[in-house]
Amino acid sequence: MLQRLEKADCPASYLQRFQPDMPVHFFAPAALDRRLDDFVNGFAGDVTYAVKANPSDRVVARLWGRGLAGFDVASPTEIESVQRLCGSAVPMHYNNPVRSSAEIAAARRAGVRSWSVDDAGELRKMAAAGLELYNEVSVRFCLDVEGGHYNFGDKFGATPDQAVALLRCVSEAGWRPALTFHVGTQCQRPGAYARYIAAAADIAQRADVRISRLNVGGGFPSARQGAAPEYGRFFAAIKEAVDAAFADRPALLCEPGRALVADSYAYAVRIKSLRAGRVYLNDGIYGGLSEFLSMHMPTFEVISRDGTPRTGESVARVAFGPTCDSIDKLPEALELPSDTREDDWLLFRSMGAYLTGVTTRFNGYGRCETVTVATL
Ligand SMILES: *Cc1c(COP(=O)(O)O)cnc(C)c1O
Repeated sequence: MLQRLEKADCPASYLQRFQPDMPVHFFAPAALDRRLDDFVNGFAGDVTYAVKANPSDRVVARLWGRGLAGFDVASPTEIESVQRLCGSAVPMHYNNPVRSSAEIAAARRAGVRSWSVDDAGELRKMAAAGLELYNEVSVRFCLDVEGGHYNFGDKFGATPDQAVALLRCVSEAGWRPALTFHVGTQCQRPGAYARYIAAAADIAQRADVRISRLNVGGGFPSARQGAAPEYGRFFAAIKEAVDAAFADRPALLCEPGRALVADSYAYAVRIKSLRAGRVYLNDGIYGGLSEFLSMHMPTFEVISRDGTPRTGESVARVAFGPTCDSIDKLPEALELPSDTREDDWLLFRSMGAYLTGVTTRFNGYGRCETVTVATL
């Protein structure tokens, strides 16, 4: 048998050569570098990375070496892995607004100096932990804004009225006051950021607090739906909205996850069984395809065993994952070319985010190899 490589020219050549029977995650480092450059050169502030989108060592270490200003972390485990890869002095903000007292203590010991909060009880916990006054505390608020793919405000974020009160408390306690929001992931509308920024200025004014920083969060789209995102439109809308809303312009910060990593990966899953109207894949909702439950399916092509794309007319098939659970079924039918065969692969694009971190080992599945490629 051929020795497997960890590097290849492109996904199709790897699939043809090694006929992998487990899912393969293809990573193009050059695409990650280009995307980071787009953000660092285009966004009018510091660019940080939300680790949860893809916590793999290769991504975290690579971003840190190339102009990233820090990381958004959500747990002591993420803090440890970022410090292991980037050193203990790496700037981190802990913007998961719900933390146990033990988590606050662990993050404080690790040197975290920036936090978000969306509730008075959480703020009391932070005061009880003895959080020093040099810490930045960002009040996270939410609005009813259409934009993101699903609404993060269901879970996190104070109302604007609550945010006014919280921001005053932060300022009176002596911490560095800031504001933050998350428009919702895979947001296609620059106007969503503009509305949030206007609301942030209004909250700061009503609280009569000068904020040190405004963190516009993540949410920027990937090319998941086919078209390359026009980040320039987002960056311009953000800058214009800040200039229009704030007399005293706060420093800006963003913390994208998906937009930085998604488009530098593709993901190959294999067809295990093809039947009338149905297809069974070697991965499903308990693995790398879990986001298909909450978002549109990304674009894909079908690659045959000889590495060429299938081109037949498309036929819709209900698609199932490999586990013995009947809910392991994709919510949308797959349109597969009519010449598709068993042992072909589906090569999904824009699969760098929310895949490795959420894959389970249910039924013995969930293993996948990662291969570095020159192009996707
Ligand atoms: C998940 C998350 C992000 C990243 O969101 P994307 O939509 O992947 O850009 C940023 N900030 C916080 C607080 C998050 O929870």
